[in-house]
Amino acid sequence: MQITRAGQTPSRKGPAAWFTGEIRIDPLFNPEAPDRVQGALVTFQPGARTAWHTHPLGQTLIVTAGQGRVQRAGGPIEAIHPGDVITFAPGERHWHGAAPDTAMSHIAIHEVQNGETVTWADPVTEADYLGQ
Ligand code: MN
Repeated sequence: MQITRAGQTPSRKGPAAWFTGEIRIDPLFNPEAPDRVQGALVTFQPGARTAWHTHPLGQTLIVTAGQGRVQRAGGPIEAIHPGDVITFAPGERHWHGAAPDTAMSHIAIHEVQNGETVTWADPVTEADYLGQ
C-alpha cells in the first residue's frame, strides 16, 4: 500500500506546445512496472484546451468541477459537466478543455505504452474551439 498525501506532488503548468491557454497539471499516480496506469488532475482556465491528440491505449476523463468541452474528430463539440465520464478509444483523435467562460477540472486516466501516453498533433484553433 502507498498513500500519496495531497500536496506531496508539485503542480506544473501544461506546456504551451500542447495546450492553448492556462492549464495546471497535478499528477496523482504514476505506474511502476508491470502496472501501466497513470492518473492526473488537470485544470483548464476558461477558454483553455488541449491540442488535438490521441492516446495509444485510450483515455478516461472524469469531470470533477466546472464546465467543459470535448470533441472527437468528425464529431460535434459536446458540453461536459461534473460527474460525466468520457472514454476515448485507442488512437481516437480528440481534444478536451474548459468552456469559453468557465474553468473545468477533470481527472485523466490512461495507460503508458512504450513510455508514451499521448501523441500530440495540431493546436485546436479558435474556430475549431468555437465550432465555427
Ligand atoms: Mn486526451
